[in-house]
Amino acid sequence: MGEIGDVGQLTRRLFGSGTLFGMRRALLLGFLLPLLLSAQKIFPPLRIAGNLYYVGDNDLASYLVVTPKGDILINTGFEYSVPEIQSRLKTLGFHLKDIKILLVTHAHSDHAAGEARMKKLTGAKMFAMQEEVDLLQTGGKTDYLFGSSGWFPPVKVDRALHDGEKIELGGFAITAYHHPGHTKGSASYAMEIADAGRTYRVLIANLGNINEGTALLHNPKYPKIAQDYARTFQAQKELPCDIFLTSHAGQFGLLAKWRPGDAYDPDRFVDPAGYVRAVERSEVRYLRQLQEERDEEQAWKDHLKFKDVTPQKF
Ligand SMILES: [Zn+2]
Repeated sequence: MGEIGDVGQLTRRLFGSGTLFGMRRALLLGFLLPLLLSAQKIFPPLRIAGNLYYVGDNDLASYLVVTPKGDILINTGFEYSVPEIQSRLKTLGFHLKDIKILLVTHAHSDHAAGEARMKKLTGAKMFAMQEEVDLLQTGGKTDYLFGSSGWFPPVKVDRALHDGEKIELGGFAITAYHHPGHTKGSASYAMEIADAGRTYRVLIANLGNINEGTALLHNPKYPKIAQDYARTFQAQKELPCDIFLTSHAGQFGLLAKWRPGDAYDPDRFVDPAGYVRAVERSEVRYLRQLQEERDEEQAWKDHLKFKDVTPQKF
């Protein structure tokens, strides 16, 4: 009886847990499958305003500026992003071979690793801030923080840019601004875009975020890093911005402003307050880190002083 009862119990438990497990598995698959499938799908491109398109993925931002004399691509993402960008251009009815100029917000692999491949595929010229040339041409090896660990395929720079310089193509102009700190030659790009009787001041801002492990004080590989960051925050606060864009989609809230399938509407990206907030947030973090480093330095100096006057116990 006991045995039969045990077997019955065991069977029920087996069937019960089996069914439950099966259901759980089915539910889990039901949840995961669409996610897995959508992860394989390429993030759709979109028109931001006038001749400016977003051709990156849901994180790594890439922008295409279309002019009658060819196109300008800002940021390529990783190497794997290049065929994705190619596919997005196709969706929009554009062609890779029309890209004449390549720009980058900063030479870290998540934005610049695809530049060499993109250059080869398009024959476009790479323009970059003077202070970023080395980093691009060494594939990131000269980066003050990552060094060789951030390596990406090196890309030859055809024209060095300076703060405030204009890049012109097909009657359209983009102004490049030197906003150093995150890298020595980080750049933001400003342009005016006319659409349906309105002119939008667009800014693709390279925010002054600090990567973990960065020293703001006594950084032998980048002695003036703290001053550079400070200068960047000041300069960014003075720049006008209606449409606020960045190197990463999340930094300007792409998916909060637009969802796949949404209609074209440049106004959805107008966010001057969001821009100011983003710059201020970066600055607050910078000031906090600077203060922490100063406090730590002071504590160390106090400790040394203390050590000098205290007899050693051991
Ligand atoms: Zn970076």
